[in-house]
Amino acid sequence: MISKPTENRQSLRRIIENNLFLVKFALRQTPLYFFMSCFYPVVNRVEVFIEHTVGIKYITDLIQFGEPFSKALTYIIWVTIFIAATFVVEGVYYQSIQLKGREKLHKNLRMLLYEKATKMDLACYDEPGYYNEFVFSLNEAANRMDKTTDYAGQFCGAVAVVFTTGTFILVFDPLGLLFVIASVVASILVTFRMNKVKFIQDLELNARARERAYIHRVFYLPDYAKEIRLNPIAAKLKKDFAKANREINRIYQTFGKKQVLLGFIQNYLCNSFILDGLYVLYILYTTMVKGAISYGSAIVLMNATWRLKANLQQLSGLLPNLQENSLYIEKLRRFLNQKPSVVAREDGYSTPKAPGVLELKNVSFAYDQSKGNVLTDISLTIKPREKVAFVGYNGAGKTTLMKLLMRLYDPSAGEILLNGKNIKDYKLEEYRGSFGTVFQDFQIFAGTVGENVTMSPVPEGKREAVVSALVKSGFHTRLATLAHGIDTPLTREFAEEGVNLSGGEAQKLVIGRVFYKPCQYIILDEPSSALDPISEYNLNKTMFEAAKDKTVIFISHRLSTTRMADRIYMLEEGRIIEAGTHEQLMALNGKYAEMFNLQAEKYRIAAGG
Ligand code: ADP
Repeated sequence: MISKPTENRQSLRRIIENNLFLVKFALRQTPLYFFMSCFYPVVNRVEVFIEHTVGIKYITDLIQFGEPFSKALTYIIWVTIFIAATFVVEGVYYQSIQLKGREKLHKNLRMLLYEKATKMDLACYDEPGYYNEFVFSLNEAANRMDKTTDYAGQFCGAVAVVFTTGTFILVFDPLGLLFVIASVVASILVTFRMNKVKFIQDLELNARARERAYIHRVFYLPDYAKEIRLNPIAAKLKKDFAKANREINRIYQTFGKKQVLLGFIQNYLCNSFILDGLYVLYILYTTMVKGAISYGSAIVLMNATWRLKANLQQLSGLLPNLQENSLYIEKLRRFLNQKPSVVAREDGYSTPKAPGVLELKNVSFAYDQSKGNVLTDISLTIKPREKVAFVGYNGAGKTTLMKLLMRLYDPSAGEILLNGKNIKDYKLEEYRGSFGTVFQDFQIFAGTVGENVTMSPVPEGKREAVVSALVKSGFHTRLATLAHGIDTPLTREFAEEGVNLSGGEAQKLVIGRVFYKPCQYIILDEPSSALDPISEYNLNKTMFEAAKDKTVIFISHRLSTTRMADRIYMLEEGRIIEAGTHEQLMALNGKYAEMFNLQAEKYRIAAGG
């Protein structure tokens, strides 16, 4: 659940700037839609003014002062023509401009955010503050855009009424404005009080609503499905749910009384009493006793004061709305203004087309400086086409090292070189593109099997290559069972007939990406963790054959895999503690040998030896 922004102090200037930010965006992207969203309310209000204010006064005056019928007829003809024109404007706006314009605006704003998101540092995802901001911006963007357009329309419409009706009252009965102002000011003061009460009520409700939302999630998210079937936790959650509901009822009751009282003051004293009581009395006196205004003016003025008041109030109510909108837009702008620290050099070197020498020089890295280094003083060289393994216990820093190699993060100290040049000096996108990777926490996207291999729409003429990659990764047996082959949709997000793969199948499919991608370096982070030993053996063999001309760097806990490597680095607590071939490290009889022997032991036990 997205909570409201809490930092709610903003200057009027900032409020206007923020709202104008989205207004300008809308004007650039969909000028006609935005213009019409503001223009249509003006046309609408002017129509009401002509019909119900000017029109009624004019007609009543004609009757009262015995004017000829032809004058009334001419007036009616003009008014009906004007109304027909407003219907045309309305039809065009609602049918062909509003829906399309709104969709386009949403799409363009989201695209801008997606574009920004792909350029942001991976480090941003580690930081809850940033991540919240990102999710928040994505979720709220369209809503805020609509609100901005809506407020702009309300503003223009209300200004049109204040201008037309206000002028009318000023001309025919300036004193009437005092009643309107008194009613507006009193209403605004009571509204402030009501908002305060509502705010406190919402604060109390929010806490309970969060509890309810959590329980709601537990019952529908697949992550919890197993646990709630296997444990009696469901009963406890249901009890909590009932308690939260009781609390919510209590809060409504407590605040309800205050709201009823304030509602009465607002609706009766500030509105009806002043405008329907005092003002009507004043108008009747002026018309009946003093004869100072015509019947038509009297009738229309009673109506016009209400309309003027409602619109003045709407204008004053816009400010808190704009302020709230501004808080959300502020977050949106902050997100859009973030500068990635992994800087992409536009004028960087092109990445060599053949595998080069990768060199780490005294590299240290911390995700969070206050929590200390995850990698410390790592120096090593990976030659072109070498097969290098990184081993070590969980949390040793292996995956982090891979992320640094791919420049998903930059080192906190030291440097990483490719053919003697700092990797920061290469074109970022091209450099990252030279890696084919399979991460432990890989993702299957809602697309076809083929698209999940090519990671784009499958290019013309590449279908064979996709199938061949899947044969190498061992996915072919599963592929043979899929009715639509590589066109089979995966996941059920978009397709009812979508297929969900098992962990091992998904892993094989993802490994297919590496076989398909024409890259210079392959990074495999525990590529076979979900595979059985035979699949793993086959995969390793195929991988080493297929990647003869590429540098392969892999992380594996399975020492049967590391035996094939040209060199093995053993990491512990972010440092390299041993390096060499399998034979050399076994002869060293250190940590690697200990790990290997322990695993061999486990295999023997598992095999019943
Ligand atoms: P390995 O791959 O050897 O298991 P990792 O590189 O994944 O080790 O993790 C090394 C250390 O860095 C661990 O202590 C882990 O908790 C921490 N770590 C990993 N990813 C992040 C992250 N995104 N933010 C903060 N700490 C992290």
